[in-house]
Amino acid sequence: MNNNTNTAVTRNIRVQGDRLWQSLMEMAQIGGTDKGGCNRQTFTDVDKQGRDLFIRWCLDAGCTMSIDTVGNIFARRPGIDNSLPPVLTGSHLDTQPTGGKFDGVYGVLAGLEVIRSLNDANLTTLAPLEIAVWTNEEGSRFSPAMLGSGVWCGEFDLDYAYSRQDKEGLSFFDELQRIGYLGSEPATHRPLKAAFEVHIEQGPILEDEGLQIGVLTGVQGMHWYDLTLFGQPCHAGPTPMEMRKDPFMALPDILTRLYRLADQYAPWGRVTFGDISANPGSRNTVPESITLAVDLRHPDQSVLDAMDQTFRSIVESATAEKQLDYKIDDEWRSPAVAFNTECIEAVRGAVCALGYSNKEMVSGAGHDSVYISRVAPTSMIFIPCEGGLSHNEAENASTEDLEAGANVLLHAMLKMANQA
Ligand SMILES: [Zn+2]
Repeated sequence: MNNNTNTAVTRNIRVQGDRLWQSLMEMAQIGGTDKGGCNRQTFTDVDKQGRDLFIRWCLDAGCTMSIDTVGNIFARRPGIDNSLPPVLTGSHLDTQPTGGKFDGVYGVLAGLEVIRSLNDANLTTLAPLEIAVWTNEEGSRFSPAMLGSGVWCGEFDLDYAYSRQDKEGLSFFDELQRIGYLGSEPATHRPLKAAFEVHIEQGPILEDEGLQIGVLTGVQGMHWYDLTLFGQPCHAGPTPMEMRKDPFMALPDILTRLYRLADQYAPWGRVTFGDISANPGSRNTVPESITLAVDLRHPDQSVLDAMDQTFRSIVESATAEKQLDYKIDDEWRSPAVAFNTECIEAVRGAVCALGYSNKEMVSGAGHDSVYISRVAPTSMIFIPCEGGLSHNEAENASTEDLEAGANVLLHAMLKMANQA
């Protein structure tokens, strides 16, 4: 039964790209939209159907299933030594209202394809393997995003998750119960040997550079601020320019120096001004105040902290020069994530052995792996998606790339699961 010691079989094993594609297309029928996308939001009837289908496939592949109290699903394939912590992979089956066929779903079904391929080759790993389906990753029906993995990792209380409501006022708990996915396993983390997540990039870099695989080293940290500059309202006609306290006058200096700050930390430093409003917002009045939405990002937390400090001192000096007051409101922070070195190494080793073109990168978007990485050694794998499009019904990826990503996942999981 057990070919674990057969290193040639282990080295040569590959997933079946066609089977993976078929399963992706079958899952995409559930909640499928006219424009070829998917609308399978958390705890809807179609979410239940998608979950049911996944469980049927896992049972057919010989897995044992468990469901926890937040609705996360775990499919387990036994190893040789089941006292060892499992190597886990997974992602989410819920989608945006106008979502695609691959965001999240690919990470779940690539895990299933890994297990199916190991079954075909009659290979048993030393440690058990698990596939996780994390509840409500998208956060489009119940806010915030990544609730299932967040509860599991201790970021959110279970009661907090239960109390979330959708736009119709239906509660997370009632809807979880209604679709029959209120499980009995405690929604708390337990030891994992390693965790991997394969995902479409959701951005244009890999496609643009003609590369097959992104080896992820972390996830960008984000700081959000509301910056308000205060001046003195006055008439646009009678008041001479040099006698004004106009908050707009500090803006050119602030913008120029902040864009320079992003350049200083290229290629990963990001500075974005997504919104601006003037108060009272009248054409012929110098505004009393203007407020800018500011978004700073970098994958290295110490750099992001330095950017934060520089941002504050730029605002301080630019407003002092124009004799303006200011206020910085910290709206939200998501710390930078550095993935586990050994997991990154397992992915890198798999990519090299398989001969795929690749580059190291960081994720600009949040993923379940952000939370998982707080409690277990974790890393991620990216594949290109067409035009960099995601959260879009036209979201697409090639069979070859989907297959390549699943092969990397397979070999990274084998590496970690067969370690003594
Ligand atoms: Zn996703």
